[in-house]
Amino acid sequence: MQIDNISHIATNALCTACGACAGVCPKNAIEIITNTAGYLVAHINNDLCINCRKCAKICPSNPENKPSIETDDIFHGVCLAGYVGYASDSTIRQKSQSGGIVTALLCYLLEKGEIEGAIVNNLNPQTRRPQAVLASSKSEIIDACGSYYAQSSVAKTILENSDKTTAAVVLGCQAESLQLIREKYPNITLPKYTIGLICAGQHSGNMIDDLIEQSGCNDEQLSAFRFRDKSYGWPGDVHVTTSTEDCWLPKESRHRLKQVYELHRCIACYDQMNIFSDIVCGDPWGISHKQQPEGHTVVIARTETGKNLLENAARDGAIVLEELSIEDIFRGQTVDGRHKTKFYTCREIFYENEWLFPYPDNSFENIPFIPANRMVRQNLWKRLTYSRDLYLTTDGEEYLRKVALKKKKLQGNFIQKVVRKAMSYGAVILRKLSIIR
Ligand SMILES: Cc1cc2nc3c(=O)[nH]c(=O)nc-3n(C[C@H](O)[C@H](O)[C@H](O)COP(=O)(O)OP(=O)(O)OC[C@H]3O[C@@H](n4cnc5c(N)ncnc54)[C@H](O)[C@@H]3O)c2cc1C
Repeated sequence: MQIDNISHIATNALCTACGACAGVCPKNAIEIITNTAGYLVAHINNDLCINCRKCAKICPSNPENKPSIETDDIFHGVCLAGYVGYASDSTIRQKSQSGGIVTALLCYLLEKGEIEGAIVNNLNPQTRRPQAVLASSKSEIIDACGSYYAQSSVAKTILENSDKTTAAVVLGCQAESLQLIREKYPNITLPKYTIGLICAGQHSGNMIDDLIEQSGCNDEQLSAFRFRDKSYGWPGDVHVTTSTEDCWLPKESRHRLKQVYELHRCIACYDQMNIFSDIVCGDPWGISHKQQPEGHTVVIARTETGKNLLENAARDGAIVLEELSIEDIFRGQTVDGRHKTKFYTCREIFYENEWLFPYPDNSFENIPFIPANRMVRQNLWKRLTYSRDLYLTTDGEEYLRKVALKKKKLQGNFIQKVVRKAMSYGAVILRKLSIIR
């Protein structure tokens, strides 16, 4: 069945709201709206739509679209070199999410006159949601340090600024829509540099409201919100700031909400490692000697453009880099174990349920993976059915009920886990005591 426009993607809970469709639409018929469940979603005004299918052709969730990939290895992509490092500027490093490499590279490009501005994300204090913006000064770029784990229409902002020379920070789905535009509409000017983030998934913006509420902050006038503020060391805790209050929440509170607000489409994504960008950056998970409070960024150069940028920035003292084996980076991000298993199991679950799967049939065959055990499969099934159902909810009361129930279930699982752990520690201690006696 041919997908005529992106409405079909949204009704299948597959829209990530990257916003590329809104950016390419010749009639401005597409806007990004917030649905009942708080997810951003592309919406078509049928009175304006001329059925040109431009939106469908560049949507990364349309199974008819498969961008050309220069390698069969879609989970790893092309890797020219691996590194770990940090921003030389201590303010950038301190404010950043990991080691500040992304922000330092953007500032370097601006100072060198290579770009007029950078497409980054900052928080809109009125809406309490991240927003993609063009930052044209160093201070604006530094103000946008840090990661927003909630949806943002980055590709739309990129296309709105296609008359300028830019560098853009993108997630895998956003980079994939840019790649489709590059192939199908080569006349559209895209950013000179794309700096990708490793991504395990986005969430609805309602996660931010929930964390603010849990933090106990009552002041309506938000001045800042950080999912991970590393003032007290990497990886960082939730931090809510207003003119009168300064509230912190431990990172575990954020982890507990991930499955409540996660985006259905992200659970089934293969591109955690952002294979379509010039450079991809992430946290040093699994790289134990680099998990220091000041923060480090792991980096993979995917194109010659990206590799040259990294080498030049290191040579000119904007960043400090050391080589790191690419295998170590992939191992740390659990790509070959957990991630591949998740992808192929999700694919099976989508097919069994006859849900629209966001990738072409029979793509990604012949890539070895470890099959999921019963518990992993069951857990993914629960996550996919819940997130799909939540995304498609049209009644506000119903939405609140579903979220409350999910939280209760997760809380129950958490208590069960703690009890099980305590019992197994108890058994070890008893065994030891009886040996001693
Ligand atoms: C949704 C999401 C999921 C992630 N998942 C993982 C993961 O599983 N494993 C991992 O190792 N790393 C993950 N990261 C990346 C990690 O959090 C850091 O962004 C990365 O290590 C770069 O750190 P840095 O200090 O160099 O970046 P910084 O110097 O802090 O710069 C980060 C840049 O990212 C921009 N940005 C923030 N949020 C978004 C967004 N939603 N979309 C596009 N740009 C944004 C900021 O505006 C800023 O320019 C994720 C990031 C996001 C946003």
